[in-house]
Amino acid sequence: MNGAVVDIQTPLILVVDDEQDTRILLRKELESCGFLVEEANSGIAALERLRGIQPDLILMDVMMPKMDGIATCQAIREQPAYQDIPILVLTGMDGIDYIRRAFDAGATDFINKTNNLGIVSQRIRYALRNHKQKDSIFSNRSQLELAQRVAKLGYWKMDIQSLRFTLSDQARALLGYGPNQFDGTLKSYLSLVHINDQEKVRSAIDCAIWQADPFEIDYRILDVRGNKRYIHTRGDVIADVSSRAVSILGTVQDITELKKAESTFEHMALYDGLTDLCNRHLFLNRLDHAMASAQREEKLLAVCFIDLDGFKKINDNLGHAIGDELLKSVAKHLKNNVRKGDIVARLSGDEFAMALESINTVDELEKIIGKIRDKLSRPHRIRGHEILSPASIGVTMYPLDSSTKPDLLKNADAAMYRAKQLGGDQYCFYTHDMRDRTQRRLELEHHLRHALAKSELRIYYQPQVDVKSGKIVGVEALLRWQHPDYGLLPPVKFIHIAEETGLIFPIGLWVMETAFRQMRQWHSQGFKQLRLAVNLSARQFLQRDLPLSLRKIMDSLHFDPQFLSVEITESVAMNNIEGATRAVEQFKALGAQVSIDDFGAGHSSMNHLQRLPVDSLNIDRSFIMNIAGREKDGATAKAIIGLAHGLGLRVIAEGVETLTQVEFLKNQQCDELQGHHFSPPVPAEQMTQFLATYQ
Ligand code: C2E
Ligand code: MG
Ligand code: MG
Repeated sequence: MNGAVVDIQTPLILVVDDEQDTRILLRKELESCGFLVEEANSGIAALERLRGIQPDLILMDVMMPKMDGIATCQAIREQPAYQDIPILVLTGMDGIDYIRRAFDAGATDFINKTNNLGIVSQRIRYALRNHKQKDSIFSNRSQLELAQRVAKLGYWKMDIQSLRFTLSDQARALLGYGPNQFDGTLKSYLSLVHINDQEKVRSAIDCAIWQADPFEIDYRILDVRGNKRYIHTRGDVIADVSSRAVSILGTVQDITELKKAESTFEHMALYDGLTDLCNRHLFLNRLDHAMASAQREEKLLAVCFIDLDGFKKINDNLGHAIGDELLKSVAKHLKNNVRKGDIVARLSGDEFAMALESINTVDELEKIIGKIRDKLSRPHRIRGHEILSPASIGVTMYPLDSSTKPDLLKNADAAMYRAKQLGGDQYCFYTHDMRDRTQRRLELEHHLRHALAKSELRIYYQPQVDVKSGKIVGVEALLRWQHPDYGLLPPVKFIHIAEETGLIFPIGLWVMETAFRQMRQWHSQGFKQLRLAVNLSARQFLQRDLPLSLRKIMDSLHFDPQFLSVEITESVAMNNIEGATRAVEQFKALGAQVSIDDFGAGHSSMNHLQRLPVDSLNIDRSFIMNIAGREKDGATAKAIIGLAHGLGLRVIAEGVETLTQVEFLKNQQCDELQGHHFSPPVPAEQMTQFLATYQ
């Protein structure tokens, strides 16, 4: 058996002939060649057989009584299952007319009966192989069509000579053409292409014609039904044997969905998901353009940073969902109150930025900012809440304040920071000294991070003197920073930075540990009852695990908590009465004392004061300062002493500088005094000498 037939698994041949001898001969021949054979002795019998078997080929005599081969062939072809089956007709000496009629009736081929029978099996093999190939081409084509439909892919072909432009069925469907609707011209095709993309398509085709350049382009079209689509086209030149370009073959692929997805991704990468404003990345990008055009047009460009005042509180108290709504509402106000072409962005959290172009005068700019401030300072109505969220705005001008982008951004930030420092709900223009301050602050922050490790921090001690005995009963630990360039810095210069950066936590623990060690030394030197006052900032005081950390340090250093007094400022104690009460109770449970520092400088509520289980009050220095000079201050100091004693608290007067003050406070039964009159804060060694002298 030859190779072509091997893969056809034992084909079944139906032999239709009215002559028994012929049937016997054919069966013998075919079976010897490896075919299976079924027989029918008439056309009717053949149709009957086809209901029970599924042959691979039919071999049919043309001349049969009643229903001849031609009529049978026709009848077979009418059945859908047999439209493709190869039918070979056996002709005698019947002439060409029969053959033609047989083909018309659907015959696949003919064999002359008078031929050698060996020929028959060869022709059968050939017909079967042909059929198989046709079958596989057909199924490939169906798969290809399916694939094209799924990939939204079609083809076009342009004949270079005639300029005829043809579209495949799939391409026509893709473009919305009904059958016979497309007139076969490039012009018609181009009329669907977006006006701004037509040149691109035309010149790609031109280059293909004249330079045989293959191309690949994307363009927009409006299809026949009016849908906007994105098309991707690849085109290549088909040449004849003499390498002459004869046509261009191209694809038409609908990539609308892909483009949509792409633009969604692009959008996500450049815009803020919540507010749909530009994000930081896009803002910085657009700022470059804005700066370039300001320079070209010799106009001013204003860069503004906007930070909401108290946003964190709103977010914490009312929840993130409301916080988000607020940000959206702010974004809307910003967008609605700038001019078209101005850039509004959300940089992060509650920080926004604007770049306002083509500013002619500062007046004009102030008008825009005024409008925005006006909108932002009105309450936002969000889910039944009326939320106030004013903003601090920093403004800098290009090219007046600086000519580079990083500097502009730094300036806007410094100006915004200034607006915040001044209490918020206002705008500040950038000034050059702001820059210096910011610069210095950043430097300081950088150095402070390393101050602990580089042992640049010091503790100074200031004595607290008992009025009645005149003895030193306590010392207050006061932090200093021995800065390598700026010398000895007092806390006002750096404590706020430590607070903002969180460095206050490690620094605070260092203060405690160092002071406890020092105290242990003094206790062991005989100053057995000496008390230590340590200052706690707001963040430290409210940190829940501070008492526990303190206990551990005290345990490990064998420092008795009864000698510790922590000082918290009046504003910290009063601003968050729940948190403060909890913290005070924790320190009390530890065995330490708690004192309210700088009393009188803030606003105390009697109610709150009564609730806090503190031990003492420190009268703020400002009331002591002019005791002798101003009657009112003397009266205030007197009232505070009376009030504290009424609540059973000890009173310490701070900043006592003169003998007059000492006398006055003594008369008012103030308990303890602290101030330069006795000693300024001094290093530990000096304090040791002082203790020895005065004890
Ligand atoms: P404070 O706790 O009210 O400390 C008293 C301040 O008054 C000290 O300023 C002290 O040097 C100053 N002072 C004392 N007697 C006199 C006087 O007779 N005349 C004048 N004019 N001033 C006097 P200092 O050391 O600059 O500390 C300022 C503030 O920094 C402290 O106020 C305290 O709130 C804070 N602080 C100091 N050390 C620390 C610390 O270790 N941690 C924290 N969180 N804050 C600290
Ligand atoms: Mg203090
Ligand atoms: Mg104080």
